[in-house]
Amino acid sequence: MIRKLAASLSLAALSLCDTAPAQSILGFTPSSSAHETEIETKFKSIPTPDEERRQHRILTAEPHIAGSKRNNELAEYIRDEWKKQGLEDVIIRRYDVYGTNPKSASLEMIAPTHYRALLRETPLPGDDDSKNPAISGAWLGMSISGDVTAPVVYAHSGNPEDYDLLRKHGITVKGKIVLVRYSNPYSYRGFKALTAQREGAAAILIYSDPQEDGYKKGKVDPDGPWGPEYHIQRGAITYDFMVPGDPLTPGWASVPGAKRIPIEDATSAPKIMALPLSWHDAKPLLENMDGPLAPEAWRGALPIKYHLGGERVKVHLKIEMDNGTQPYYVVEGRIRGAELPDEWVVLGNHRDAWVFGGVDPSSGTASMMELTRALGKLAKEGMRPRRTLVICSWDGEEVGLTGSTEWGEQFADELRSKAVAYINVDEATSGPNFHGQAVASLVPMLEEATHTLQDPSGKSLYDAWKETAAREKEEGKQSGQMNDSGVSDRTLADTRIGSGSDHTVFLNFVGMPVIGLQFDGDYGVYHSAYDDFYWMNHFGDPGYKYHTLMSQLWGVTALRLANADLLPFDFASYANNVRQFVNELATKNPVLLSGVTGSRSGAVTVSKDPTQASTTGGPTGSFYNGFVSNFLGPGGDTTKTQFDLTSVRKEIDNFEASGKLLNQSITRKLSAGPIDAKLAATLNHGMMQVERNWLNPDGIPGRPWFKHILYGARFTYAHLELPGLTEAVEARDWPRAKQQAEILQRALEKNTKLLDDLNANLR
Ligand SMILES: [Zn+2]
Repeated sequence: MIRKLAASLSLAALSLCDTAPAQSILGFTPSSSAHETEIETKFKSIPTPDEERRQHRILTAEPHIAGSKRNNELAEYIRDEWKKQGLEDVIIRRYDVYGTNPKSASLEMIAPTHYRALLRETPLPGDDDSKNPAISGAWLGMSISGDVTAPVVYAHSGNPEDYDLLRKHGITVKGKIVLVRYSNPYSYRGFKALTAQREGAAAILIYSDPQEDGYKKGKVDPDGPWGPEYHIQRGAITYDFMVPGDPLTPGWASVPGAKRIPIEDATSAPKIMALPLSWHDAKPLLENMDGPLAPEAWRGALPIKYHLGGERVKVHLKIEMDNGTQPYYVVEGRIRGAELPDEWVVLGNHRDAWVFGGVDPSSGTASMMELTRALGKLAKEGMRPRRTLVICSWDGEEVGLTGSTEWGEQFADELRSKAVAYINVDEATSGPNFHGQAVASLVPMLEEATHTLQDPSGKSLYDAWKETAAREKEEGKQSGQMNDSGVSDRTLADTRIGSGSDHTVFLNFVGMPVIGLQFDGDYGVYHSAYDDFYWMNHFGDPGYKYHTLMSQLWGVTALRLANADLLPFDFASYANNVRQFVNELATKNPVLLSGVTGSRSGAVTVSKDPTQASTTGGPTGSFYNGFVSNFLGPGGDTTKTQFDLTSVRKEIDNFEASGKLLNQSITRKLSAGPIDAKLAATLNHGMMQVERNWLNPDGIPGRPWFKHILYGARFTYAHLELPGLTEAVEARDWPRAKQQAEILQRALEKNTKLLDDLNANLR
């Protein structure tokens, strides 16, 4: 799961609920609203903190990395529980994937002094799980095996501009080992690995500086939520921003017997050795380095002088991995819809954890188990949803979003005809702060759902969400990361959806609208052995109240999508959001603005300093663009504007106008009472098609697996709006930009026509 450093900005208009009669729920007639409220009240009364805690204890009892015996036992446990709870068609699906498991790893400093890295986490007093001998040592998924002795260079965050600075000091990393820190600013560790690989480094070591997640932030575990001296952030370095899932089956499912490509041809398979370090193990290396003093921004919180290094410190690094084919297991179950069984609302959470997975993902899995218990209970009592709920426990999310990707690829055609939406919960809770993410068409229904739930603070979840958003905005302003104005009903949900969790295949490959739900807080033990039951019970969610609230929210959102008379999509909101994306692209690339008048964009200031975190939560400046254009070939003329976005903007206006009309007609129709089944089917299937129409079958240039025109992810995992168009513009490749703008324009036209046709049915 991607760690977010800055709350994202968003814009989505609430237009339906302004006009709907009191007490009526978006997408429901007045009488079905009343019925839905009854069902939800019953549903919300079922999950309990005690049960959440009991499930969480079972799930976090042992380490359960993808492919391990324990994780496979948990798949069977979930299958058996679901059957008992009353889920139907419960089945375990198997995918045979390229395995990545550590056999051994060692790191020794051989000059100027000797130090043998521990590569282990020491037990913490009071936390018995931290003594478990099954805890793995330091390792990173998808590192290659190797044995190298070389000098160490400190490369700050390991982003491209960091190597530029080293070059300015005459330091090359070719054949050397680079030592980098995790977040400053945030970038996905796979991006750091790819960057080091492209710079010709022999290996990359990634350590957790206490500045980012340790004592500089506050009290450390076992006395506080932050990472202690020995904590190791494991993780995968898979280049899943190129294509997620099993690297050997890009675009098709790794079912047993599937065709495979050789690993040498796999674009998502790293070709560099990589190892994570605690700051305990990084400090001896850092404090012995020579070379120039590191610039201010590069220095962390260790009580040492940070040097760039390059000659004095030499280490011997040896990594042995097992890459044998390995089965991953996805558990799938459903509650069959009573009236529309072939319309699916899909819910999912991953099961695999780096170690115990206290927060990531077992808080989400515990919430899912209480959600399914409640749904099963309702079904047994005759309260079956109108549409089918499909619920999945993914495997191998941590390795490359693997289980969900393979499952999504296997059932892509069926999903494209049946799926209403996907709701993802990865980390359910590491604290009390709610973050809701959704494609803009689903923002109004998500916000509406939060009004009906009670936050443990006593406020409605909606009010608590608003306060969190306002506070984070204020903090963001202080740190210079945020630059827009105010939190309102229209800017609450995060509509900038990058990658980093299991929603990716559904949004970017299948073309399904997605929602992501999470509570977070101070959390410095991510992907370490200390992310466990003790941590959750002392810091994350001691009373399991947020786990319970997550089960309730996840269920209410799912039930509304499953029971609505007319699906609660708001396409006027969607249009408004797309307009904002286009405005931002134009504002950040002023050359596009010539010939365009009446930009509706607000005052957006873009940081000129690439070392500063940008609003997108990661490196996105010119250094990044140059990096991406290396993959796509040289850009074109960098001085003249060769196209503008006038026609795209016009199509957005048309789409918005049609969306508004449809909203009005639907509101009118719903308030008039029961809706003819055939008409409802026409409208619902039409509305389901809108998200599919944002797919370009050819995908983003250079990354054909990513097919969504509006959403993508940068190589850093940061969200990337209008990915094909934006990358072309940033590369100043005008022919490609023109082509991408036309693709966007055609999709807008298609969806405007679709909405007009639907609206005609309502007249
Ligand atoms: Zn996760």
